[in-house]
Amino acid sequence: MEKSDEQQRGRFIVFEGIDGSGKSTQIQMISKRIQALNLKVYTTFEPTAGPIGSLIRQMLSGKIKTDQRTLALLFAADRMDHLINDENGIRRKIDTGELVICDRYYFSSYAYHAQYMDMEWVIDANSLNAGILRPDLTVFIDADPEKCFERIKNNRSEFEMYEKIDIMKNVRINYLKAFEHLKNYERIAVIDGNDSMAHVGDAIFHEVMKTINLASEKADF
Ligand code: ADP
Repeated sequence: MEKSDEQQRGRFIVFEGIDGSGKSTQIQMISKRIQALNLKVYTTFEPTAGPIGSLIRQMLSGKIKTDQRTLALLFAADRMDHLINDENGIRRKIDTGELVICDRYYFSSYAYHAQYMDMEWVIDANSLNAGILRPDLTVFIDADPEKCFERIKNNRSEFEMYEKIDIMKNVRINYLKAFEHLKNYERIAVIDGNDSMAHVGDAIFHEVMKTINLASEKADF
């Protein structure tokens, strides 16, 4: 039977959460499980490793001084480059049937920058990006900020601008506000990130399998 256009199109799955919530751990775990099913997966992250992303990192570390509005627009520009650059732009990967998993996307901008400006402004600043590609699924790993702070405190010697406990609490609340605000346009799975890595992994696997349209009985729970 011929595959429909919808089946041939790839899938774009985004992981969101505050620092230390387990995004990179879970992306590695889900990628292995997907590969074990003989499916290909391309993983990527924001801010990107490209020129705009590296400028952003220097600003986050405090090496380059900036204003939050400038930073918010740079994030949107980095995201556009991530979507449409000729070499490895995500939009084309999705059009050619790839499964792409991304660590952070525009909900990060909404949650982090709404601390400094109206969230609507940030949503507007990302509207071109949203027009080019909305995730098929956003996985939000919802973990207690105190717990996340403990996790990252143990293995980081330097902290970036947003890695402070009060900021992490505010950002978590902003994420929840953004999900509520955009619930009619976005597919979001909120996963309890306080549980063990394996349990969090199983909950995520279940959601991801629904999105990539594989029968869930194939899943090796
Ligand atoms: P993020 O990418 O969201 O910043 P990481 O995946 O890097 O988070 O995880 C931060 C730290 O917390 C790592 O040391 C990781 O091993 C640990 N960690 C991740 N998930 C859990 C979990 N469910 N329980 C306990 N520790 C975890």
